Amino acid sequence: MALLFSFFIDVFFYNTLMKNILPSPLEYKNNNLYFDGKRLDAIAAKKRTPFYLYSKKTLRHYYEHFSKAAVKNNLPSPLVCYALKANSNKDVLAQLKKMGSGADVVSVGELKKALKAGIDPQKIVFSGVAKTAEEIRFALKCGKKGIYSFNVESIEELQLINEIAKKEKRIARVAFRLNPQVSAKTHKHISTGNKTHKFGLLKADIVEALEAREFWTNTTLVGLSIHIGSQLTEMKATVKAIEEISKLALSIDVALEFLDLGGGLGIDYTAEEKSKLTSIDTYMKTVADALEKYYYSKTDHCPRVVFEPGRIIVGKMGVLVSRVVRTKVSDSNHFTIIDAGMNDLIRPALYEAYHEVLPAQASKKLIKTDIVGPICETSDCFGSKRKLPALSAGDLVVIDNAGAYGQTMASSYNEREIATEYFV
Ligand SMILES: *Cc1c(COP(=O)(O)O)cnc(C)c1O
Repeated sequence: MALLFSFFIDVFFYNTLMKNILPSPLEYKNNNLYFDGKRLDAIAAKKRTPFYLYSKKTLRHYYEHFSKAAVKNNLPSPLVCYALKANSNKDVLAQLKKMGSGADVVSVGELKKALKAGIDPQKIVFSGVAKTAEEIRFALKCGKKGIYSFNVESIEELQLINEIAKKEKRIARVAFRLNPQVSAKTHKHISTGNKTHKFGLLKADIVEALEAREFWTNTTLVGLSIHIGSQLTEMKATVKAIEEISKLALSIDVALEFLDLGGGLGIDYTAEEKSKLTSIDTYMKTVADALEKYYYSKTDHCPRVVFEPGRIIVGKMGVLVSRVVRTKVSDSNHFTIIDAGMNDLIRPALYEAYHEVLPAQASKKLIKTDIVGPICETSDCFGSKRKLPALSAGDLVVIDNAGAYGQTMASSYNEREIATEYFV
């Protein structure tokens, strides 16, 4: 039956697929898939699937590359605040802390995780539109001086922070998150920089808030921030946003300590992204040039730059390892049913995101098949009409590029267990 769907394809098909611009822990040798130099089938032998598999070596590579690129481009005392929501595994955080990373958090839960990993509160920025009184109080009181910055997303939030700081007899360090009104070219669910989005403040509202003295008795403005979206592959919107934040910074009468340029740099999930991706080096150079042009060349006061990268730091270091449960044929459709589902990795179902699915054993002979999970939802599908070998029950596959927004978005939907995370 499966023959119906069979066709032959160049033996180098998988090696071509694997030719990522960005370094990855995966590699085929003699048709066997290796992860960080170890055979995947050996790694998976005694583990229950599905599970997440991470490479510390790859994690270190991306953090180092990113932070060094900022220094190489002569940005003034850059601070990398890794965005925890991409992956908040404690060993990931411990490794990043060791390399000097700060943290971008969006909840008190993430803040506690960052502190537990030993990250200095003075390297932590707190973003998000819904910070509660309880969260603000905790962030204000952690460490000797509280966190480095509350990235404020509304006037109401500023007012509340000021009130709480007054009660606690503290001074809260705040930055305004500017909504720069740019449209980042990315999926609509992960674009954040337009005025129809809930994020950030419009320039006019920031200027007005600066004049309201009652909001500033126990707060001090230390920075401005932007974050225009995620999985950005082109830099036009980023440059425009830097122009906007620079104009605002130059127009207000405050000696800012920092400009926070957010996160958002994308990785190569698809073949198309492989060809048009912005590399870390190009990104940093573009950022440095834009800052020079729109800001630093116009003033003697050059605040430091904060970055909030998430995906680019952890996206490539992880895969989701799964086994085939069975295959199924329905008229002209062939299904490969695996034991990982949308509850383990929701990106395909939520953002129509593409993830490469790779067999542990490559073969010359391929079929076209839909890779689906066990969840009772039609959107529980990792890929349609993918070219894969005809697999059978127990065979291993990996879902590539699952280090970011994988485990952190996992749920127990359908009463499934949360997949365990391992390092090689
Ligand atoms: C999600 C988020 C980030 C990280 O985005 P990536 O695309 O993973 O780099 C940074 N800053 C803020 C405010 C965010 O919400």
